[in-house]
Formats: sequence, C-alpha cells, structure tokens
Amino acid sequence: MTFLGTATSLGVPMIGCDCEVCHSSDPRDKRLRSSIYVETPECAWVVDTGTDFRTQALRENIRRLDAVVFTHSHTDHIMGFDDLRRYSHDLGSIPVYASAETMRDLERVYEFAFNGKNRFPGYLVPVPHIIEGAFRLGETSLTPLPVPHGRTTVNGYLFVRDGRKLVAYLSDCSAVPEAIAEQITGVDVLIIDALRHKPHPTHLSVTQAIEVAAKVRPGRTLFTHIIHELAQASEADLLDGVGIAYDGLKIDL
Ligand SMILES: [Zn+2]
Ligand SMILES: [Zn+2]
Ligand SMILES: [Zn+2]
Repeated sequence: MTFLGTATSLGVPMIGCDCEVCHSSDPRDKRLRSSIYVETPECAWVVDTGTDFRTQALRENIRRLDAVVFTHSHTDHIMGFDDLRRYSHDLGSIPVYASAETMRDLERVYEFAFNGKNRFPGYLVPVPHIIEGAFRLGETSLTPLPVPHGRTTVNGYLFVRDGRKLVAYLSDCSAVPEAIAEQITGVDVLIIDALRHKPHPTHLSVTQAIEVAAKVRPGRTLFTHIIHELAQASEADLLDGVGIAYDGLKIDL
C-alpha cells in the first residue's frame, strides 16, 4: 500500500502561507490531497482520485489500476477523476465503486464521461458499481464503514484478506461510531483522519484520533488528511505505534 497523498483539501504547503510548516525543509511536510494505492497479487486500486491524482500516478509510476473506490465526493477526493482515462483506455473501461450519493455527484460532475456518447478510445469509460455492503476486489474484501464527516456521512473502508483485518482507512471523519470501532477492532493498520490539534467541525483532531485508536487497538496507527498546522516532526510526541503518514510512504501487509 502506498500513500499517494496525506493532506487535507488545501494541500501542504498552503497557497500564500508563510508558516513554519509551509516553509519546512522536511520533504514529508509536502503533502498532496489524500489518497492511497493498494496493490495485491490479483489486482490494484486507488481510494479516491483527488485534485493531485495525475501528479501522484506519475510520481509512483502507477502502471496498473483495475478499479477505483471513492470515500465521498468532496473536490479534494474526486477532481482527478478524468485522469483515470489512461487506465480506462488500457482496460476498455474502469470499474468505479461508490455509495449511491457519491455516484450521483460523480455522474453530475463528470456527465460527459458517464453519458456514453463519446466512444473515442482515449476517453474515460467509467462503469459504476453502487456500494451496498461488502464487496470484493480480487481476494480482498472491502467493507464500507459509514462515518460522520460533519453533517454528511462518508465511507471509510476495511480491507480483509484470508480473514485478517489488514487496513481500516478513515480519511475523512468527525467521529467514529462505537459499532464501527468494534468492527475494526484489532486491525493491523488504522489510517485515520487527524487534521490538527485544534478541534474542527468535520475532521478529527489528533487527540480525538488517539481516543479512537485506544478503542480500536490496531497494530499500528497512521494519521492522514493533515493540515499545515501539524508538522511531521510532531510525530516524535506521539506514543509508540502511532505515526503521521506522509506522501510516498509504503507499507507491506
Ligand atoms: Zn502554512
Ligand atoms: Zn471531505
Ligand atoms: Zn477530504
């Protein structure tokens, strides 16, 4: 699994900001919009195609992409959608997995891709799959984890292989309901929204993310969806087993 991006919607550095983190010399403080790339022996997929998707795909030299899974339709998660055409071209089309609500937004914003009128081979041909429960990509089962994100509900995902809970990905959430925490208990890697130290109406703070991790007791916790107020160096203040993810970080599961 590769972290393609670990930033909140503004990216880090933020346009026109002179703060310490935006001028940091630590390359890990340069963050593109949040997304992960998952490779398995059978297939590969991305979760979200944000504004920086093309840059991320070039950086990581992504040659294989069999499907795309969406958490929700905020612009920082969907604005790279059209760049999927490079993969769609090779496959003939590309499967898109999203909740009914997110799919509705994708179909509205990218109407030209979904209406099927342009059959030019270089054009994006998405094949919608509405998520209504757990589904499989190759040998991996993906269970949607509906979590509150301010006033909306978005999907996190739990990846399970051979009965092992490998990853829970909760990139955007303002709370993790008890039932979801229970469902992901003991997961190998918890990837969780931890925007900054100060509370925020639609994202977890560092303290809140740590509280969730204490309930879930994962093998390892990695924070994502970071804003410029949180320096990579502040990872040193966190407990063992808790870290801040950064762009390009790869983990073997
Ligand atoms: Zn800044
Ligand atoms: Zn969002
Ligand atoms: Zn977001």
